[in-house]
Amino acid sequence: MAATVLNGKKLSRQIEDGLQRRVARISSGTGGQIPVLATILVGDDPASATYVRMKGNACKRVGMDSLRVLLPEETTTRELLAEIEKLNADPRVHGILLQHPVPAQVHERACFDRISTGKDVDGVTAHGFGLMAMGAPAYGAATPAGIMTLLSHYHIPLEGRTAVVVGRSPILGKPMAMMLLNANATVTICHSRTRNLPGIVRTADIVVGAVGKREFIKADWIADNAVVIDAGYHPGPVGDVELSAVVHRCAAYTPVPGGVGPMTIATLIAQTVASAEKVAAGSGPAPAQERP
Ligand code: NAP
Repeated sequence: MAATVLNGKKLSRQIEDGLQRRVARISSGTGGQIPVLATILVGDDPASATYVRMKGNACKRVGMDSLRVLLPEETTTRELLAEIEKLNADPRVHGILLQHPVPAQVHERACFDRISTGKDVDGVTAHGFGLMAMGAPAYGAATPAGIMTLLSHYHIPLEGRTAVVVGRSPILGKPMAMMLLNANATVTICHSRTRNLPGIVRTADIVVGAVGKREFIKADWIADNAVVIDAGYHPGPVGDVELSAVVHRCAAYTPVPGGVGPMTIATLIAQTVASAEKVAAGSGPAPAQERP
């Protein structure tokens, strides 16, 4: 049987249609207020600038506003923290995205963690991660949360199944593993010191490639009928998995492009709309929320 294509592009458009209606409802219920995502870009890395632009375009598509903060390459941690504080305190702003990676002199973790939990719509704070890991309400890290939405939409069973996540970054591999664990999968996390990676990947009903190396996960490591999630993003149509050689014998896979990437953006926008709905209902982030 042909593999199911987990079409993130198509699903993200459906999600955006729903978000457009929710944004219109917020606006009509609040006398014209619309959700605002603040995006912070530090430096002039062209790939990061493209990602931020794509997120701004998605805001426009659903009728939201984005507030762009551009900071120079030489920005210090202290300066970036001050910008984040301003956005935390700005009642117009419902969500804050700090584009990863920031220049080397900036303490990225300290800056992520300064984002108030209620505006952490990209799911990057340690507090948000902790809540999510405990099964408490929190905005999930956008990429793995988008993957979970995709798996659920296509009714991919997770309970009791073996999932192998290759990569353990704070914004992707680790939260991915926790989300799969919360969905009752049996999860193995692999990284650069893992021994016998091919053998471990072969045990997986669900493989998630989150390595950042082109076609690093080889087709012959992947069991027949596995579900293949490729989060990798590189110039050219390849991800972290040698997909072309496995699509004919896996159960389902995310195409590259058009799989995980659009779901990340849709999730970020959806979580910003959810934050704005909370504010409209009087239960959202206070303008200057206490940090935990
Ligand atoms: P990252 O921070 O560089 O993390 C890479 C992970 O891969 C690390 O945990 C690293 O292990 C592991 N790794 C590196 N070499 C390995 C090896 N030889 N064997 C096993 N594991 C190895 O990358 P990231 O931010 O998580 O991103 C991963 C990929 O996802 C990239 O291609 C990125 O472009 C893509 N991405 C896509 C989206 C999207 O929206 N589509 C969003 C975010 C990221 P150690 O921890 O031991 O170093």
